[in-house]
Amino acid sequence: MANTGVCWMEGKLQPLREARIPVIDHGLLYGDGVFEGIRFYGGQPLLLAEHLRRLRDSARAIALALRWSDEELTGIIGQTIAASGLSDGYIRLLLTRGDGALGIDPRSCAEPRLIVIADELQMVDPQVREQGATLIIASTRRLPPDGLDPRIKSLNYLNHILARIEANQAGADEALLLNALGRVTEGSADNLFIVRDGRLLTPPTSDGALAGITRALVMDLARELGIEALEQSLTVFDLYSADECFLTGTAAELIPVRSIDGRAMGDCPGEVYRRLAEAFAGFVQRL
Ligand code: PMP
Repeated sequence: MANTGVCWMEGKLQPLREARIPVIDHGLLYGDGVFEGIRFYGGQPLLLAEHLRRLRDSARAIALALRWSDEELTGIIGQTIAASGLSDGYIRLLLTRGDGALGIDPRSCAEPRLIVIADELQMVDPQVREQGATLIIASTRRLPPDGLDPRIKSLNYLNHILARIEANQAGADEALLLNALGRVTEGSADNLFIVRDGRLLTPPTSDGALAGITRALVMDLARELGIEALEQSLTVFDLYSADECFLTGTAAELIPVRSIDGRAMGDCPGEVYRRLAEAFAGFVQRL
């Protein structure tokens, strides 16, 4: 394990691999908490306001108080990036329910715990980025929104981890999750787009996708390029017969998809992917 990274907790910065929390934190006991993953380029966090908004929305949705203002969070993030000594990297923000009794009731937790980590980013395999990722459709379904709203970016990723295990066992790069109705939702840690007849389509959050920050940026960039970009429910057939397909996410950025369940995509990397990846790189450079 590389000895990089720093962690901010309770006002103190320490080496990441020395940072510890008590075993009675409900984030550990129950996955009770929310998080964000944010990239920084040249020391500048990308789309920080959007990430903080999503963190705040997720925290409110689970009745978890986020007592730090955006200014305070921005200051802590800046401090953590500076202490990491990294120019480009990844921030992980966690807000847990904090320490409590062994029972599930969050009322035993007096104080939420904020953790900010800055570290190097584990890069996507350059070969996958160039040649495209292989995907499978997992048999694990995305939890229904009336069970857990997909817009809550919670610390509980077991549903996605089960899908990811399926991908690993199939020798694929990533798994896609369908919802209970068989509509496409997203990958285990990224959103999905397809291109059909020059139009860019992505599943709506109401079908079970996280409201990805990269997803929103890619839709804005597409519109700037004159590419029609829409949220639309998608079926497995839509995936198999798409002209192009790609994944988006903070860590992933944009990754073209080569095949889904062994069906080769129409084009990979496709023309629309190429234009959007270039526009994304331009956006990051202007930070
Ligand atoms: N879906 C899931 C389940 C994720 O974990 C992520 C990564 N945060 C994404 C989509 C992509 O979202 P974003 O572009 O905001 O990183």
